Amino acid sequence: MSGRSGNRKPGNRSGRVSSGGAPQAINGVPVVVGQRIECHIVGLTHDGEGVGRFEGYTLFVRDALPGERVQAEVVSIGKSFGKARMTELLESGTGSRVAPPCPIYDTCGGCQLQHMAYAEQLRWKRQHVVDNLVRIGKLKVADDGGSVIVHPTIGMDDPWRYRNKAQVPIGHGVGGLIGGFYEQGSNDIVEMDACLIQEVENEETVRAVKEAARLLDIPAYNRVTGRGLLRHVVVRHARTTGQRMIVLVTNGRDIPHAQELVGLIREKIAGVVSVCQNVNTLVTPVVFGEETRVLWGEEVIYDEIDGIQFAISPRSFFQVNPEQTVRLYGKAVEYAALTGDETVIDAYCGAGTISLFLARHADRVYGVEIIPEAIEDARRNARINGIQNAEFAVGPAEVVMPRWQSEGIVPDVIVVDPPRKGCDPILISTMLELRPSRIVYVSCNPSTLARDLRLLEDGGYRTVEVQPVDMFPHTGHVECCSLLVRKN
Ligand code: SAH
Repeated sequence: MSGRSGNRKPGNRSGRVSSGGAPQAINGVPVVVGQRIECHIVGLTHDGEGVGRFEGYTLFVRDALPGERVQAEVVSIGKSFGKARMTELLESGTGSRVAPPCPIYDTCGGCQLQHMAYAEQLRWKRQHVVDNLVRIGKLKVADDGGSVIVHPTIGMDDPWRYRNKAQVPIGHGVGGLIGGFYEQGSNDIVEMDACLIQEVENEETVRAVKEAARLLDIPAYNRVTGRGLLRHVVVRHARTTGQRMIVLVTNGRDIPHAQELVGLIREKIAGVVSVCQNVNTLVTPVVFGEETRVLWGEEVIYDEIDGIQFAISPRSFFQVNPEQTVRLYGKAVEYAALTGDETVIDAYCGAGTISLFLARHADRVYGVEIIPEAIEDARRNARINGIQNAEFAVGPAEVVMPRWQSEGIVPDVIVVDPPRKGCDPILISTMLELRPSRIVYVSCNPSTLARDLRLLEDGGYRTVEVQPVDMFPHTGHVECCSLLVRKN
């Protein structure tokens, strides 16, 4: 088998094969673009590319897996590394290669690891976490005789059809309006109706919206000219209640035939309780603009995680894999080890999800989050669940936490769940001054996690254990829940 799809013939995209003789090394780079080389794959990047070495030079080889020996064609070169595309599998590695079930895996940029057996993905994700903790965090992990335990990744029993939210770019195709995904490494939209990591309900909803928009001649947005109307269709499905939300992201306020559009969609799809519009007129890859309004129905949908109800509005952050969310939040609660007497801070709290889980076991919880709508949701979520010991503030956590400190709030436990860039340095130093006995760090990025754990270690904390959780099977992403305790 060659290439990750198994249906691509070796080298069928290359008209430019190397000249045969070894080319001259330019600036110490021993390869040129178009050259075919053979290399052994020694690792995997977080984007799922194989890491190959050729005469001391590093090449990231798309489609190749660790342990394999491959032939690859160089597609670009830089001073310290280059990129290549696998053209032939010469020697199998550890037997982790599988045929990716998705027919568009080759063109779509959504998944990176479908060509790797799921058990191997889980092992690799754990190793990726360990490597970051060791290299960036300078931590001593139990694997090497140290004390930091990194548990095996918690995976899914059935790692498909897990996403409860779809965000589909809309554009022009041959037959008119299309919607699907951005082609790998480009801004071109490819029409798609089925995605194997997406819930079937979301596929149905997106299909109905596209059909209705075509019928009513609603113009698709053109990313080159900045003209046209419909930019994105975002749909959510709450698995526990069956409720569905549709958000039409548009380049301008007026949608022709808006109510007919809603009618056509509702005729097709039961369970739609909310159709909203978000206006985004900027030339930007960011999906949402500032203005959101209800076109029809409710302003939120309701979902439930482990007995707690959550209202979800169009723009608020809500974990996309409900089955794994229970496991992740369960770990956060376990690591917080609450007895009912504690004061807890939940920084980067989104719609208050983790906060409300913690509130059931704590005396008082303070949540902070930068998006005002998310805090409105958090307050509403506390109210509808009858939770009275959770309080929420809007603002940057690095501003609000020092304010709480000056107001005399003394947390026993701090939970943080920052975005990919990790915690703000001011937040870290405030945490160190507040001296909670435990810190629970939920992270979606192992490298910034490792950086921040080092700062916390240097400030008097010990990393006890790290639990990777697979929230996004078949992609390179890995989520971790970590426990730190104060040293004295
Ligand atoms: N804990 C929540 C949300 C985690 S996602 C959950 O599990 O659902 C990270 C959140 O941090 C997002 O909601 C984002 O809006 C918020 N955020 C980003 N930067 C922030 C900052 N500087 N201060 C506070 N919140 C921030």
